[in-house]
Amino acid sequence: MEANRVYNFNPGPATLPLEVLKQAQEELLNFSGSGMSIMEISHRAKEYDAVHNQAKEDIKELMGLGSDYDVLFIQGGASMQFAMVPMNFAAADKKGNYVLSGSFASKAYKEAEIQGVGTVAASSKDNDFRNIPKQNELKISADASYLHVCYNNTIYGTEYHYIPETNGIPLVADMSSDMLSRPLDFSKFSLIYAGVQKNLGPAGVTIVVAKKSFIENSPENIPTMLRYNTYSQKNSLYNTPPAFCIYMVGKVASWLKRQGGLTAIAERNAKKASLLYDVIDSSSGFYKGHAEKDSRSFMNVTFRLPTEELEAKFIAEAKDNKLCGIKGHRSVGGLRASIYNAMSYDGVKCLTDFMEQFQTANK
Ligand SMILES: *Cc1c(COP(=O)(O)O)cnc(C)c1O
Repeated sequence: MEANRVYNFNPGPATLPLEVLKQAQEELLNFSGSGMSIMEISHRAKEYDAVHNQAKEDIKELMGLGSDYDVLFIQGGASMQFAMVPMNFAAADKKGNYVLSGSFASKAYKEAEIQGVGTVAASSKDNDFRNIPKQNELKISADASYLHVCYNNTIYGTEYHYIPETNGIPLVADMSSDMLSRPLDFSKFSLIYAGVQKNLGPAGVTIVVAKKSFIENSPENIPTMLRYNTYSQKNSLYNTPPAFCIYMVGKVASWLKRQGGLTAIAERNAKKASLLYDVIDSSSGFYKGHAEKDSRSFMNVTFRLPTEELEAKFIAEAKDNKLCGIKGHRSVGGLRASIYNAMSYDGVKCLTDFMEQFQTANK
């Protein structure tokens, strides 16, 4: 680790690979021999075009998807996708069907409700969102035009470990906090979106990966900038894209390829997560995980200590040990370690060493 850096467990914006930050730093004043920063170049320039198209290609390659899928770059965060999805695909007689597995899943459903087109397929709210509803609990409605799931619940620390079977109803997933963290059969999804500031870059762009046949018929009566079609027909260059963010996402995608792709990163992510969960499970109840074991997230590990006073003490002492960003979300309290792709095994090991010491000193 660099001497003046910390281990950053923030949920988003979140830690980025040091290698990528350094590359950006090196290229900042003179990108690709242009004598300008990437932030100062026209989005119609050939130097930018290469960055834009390579990022799209690398994302598709990492996901193992072919020419029947498109990658779109959209602003407004994952939160705008909550509204765009029902606007583009639902109607009074074709509802958006939602699995409520946490706060972002519920916010997505709320946007469909505002438009009068939302129905609920399952919910784990009564269980404090400690679990992901199972396949046999999903009541996919017959009039659904899609099933929406939040694949990793950043705040509660739960994650899907199966791909829902929908009997032909298009599957839409918010993967903001686990995008490109493990290999999946992505061809089972019609549309995946992810705000990149969790796992893939700086805040400012949302990646949408969609089946072309699913998005080619956006309705005509919604604003141009809210139609998926606009982005796919114009290569996400209908208006000025967030060029610097896309450039950073491209750098992270190529870093991921150098790590060995999604299979290699998933192995590392699984090792990091089990290190943490093992310490929680062997703490004789000092640390209590929020998620049920079979729904545990590999990306956000949520847990509590015996008292709120101890939690505050833990956070303060962790910070003194260069372990930052582990306070839980304000809506649920407790602690949360976000251990995205760019968090090293060493970083997680430092945290678990600290947890063991803290327990010994405070039990
Ligand atoms: C952070 C997050 C969001 C919200 O993302 P914004 O880009 O801030 O709108 C939505 N869904 C999930 C799963 C998230 O983690």
